[in-house]
Amino acid sequence: MSITENLLKIKSKLPQNIALVAVSKTKPVSDLLEAYDTGQRIFGENKIQEMASKHDEMPKDIEWHMIGHIQRNKVKYMAPFVSLIHAVDSLRLLAEINKQALKNNRVIDCLLQVKIASEESKFGLSENEVLDLLTSEEIKNFQNIKIVGLMGMATFTDNQEQLQKEFEMLKYIFDNLIYLKSDNCNLKTLSMGMSNDYPIAIKNGSTMIRVGSSIFGKRTLA
Ligand SMILES: *Cc1c(COP(=O)(O)O)cnc(C)c1O
Repeated sequence: MSITENLLKIKSKLPQNIALVAVSKTKPVSDLLEAYDTGQRIFGENKIQEMASKHDEMPKDIEWHMIGHIQRNKVKYMAPFVSLIHAVDSLRLLAEINKQALKNNRVIDCLLQVKIASEESKFGLSENEVLDLLTSEEIKNFQNIKIVGLMGMATFTDNQEQLQKEFEMLKYIFDNLIYLKSDNCNLKTLSMGMSNDYPIAIKNGSTMIRVGSSIFGKRTLA
């Protein structure tokens, strides 16, 4: 099936209140343009420089989401245009995002990544670490960032019960922290669900799914 057919099929089954991030990492601009022409306006990338060069080439009414793990020294390359940073996992990174956002006279929306997978390789904070971060003295000074939600990646598995448990846990943490409202914190977005698990994620309260291979086809490993 074509990118257009894949996208239309996914969208036709998606509840209206769920945002779809088209994960276009490693794919050429021609593929992104096909999705754009089908009406897609949110694209997710996991490498900052790749996202920046695609941003240069693509139409300007796109929301660019950084979904990958971030090196602090590269934040400056996306600060002028990024719409949402999904995988924030430390106060130091948040400080750098705040600094670069200030330089660009912007407020940048961020999600905190929570570790829900059983795999050691996945990044993210524990519930307590999220709580510590959101209630820290330092974060009060960060006027150019806004924490708008949480993000998580489930274990890479076909075990539906395990996926269910992991998404349930993230939703539970989200609900536990939602009361923490301040000038730069208002949890609304729960980013969870990828090609192989987004239906379960949606059942468990996801508000934003990140779908790559089901739209653009398999990625060849670099
Ligand atoms: C690659 C990636 C996705 C999309 O994965 P697919 O299985 O291709 O849908 C979603 N989220 C993150 C963080 C990713 O790195």
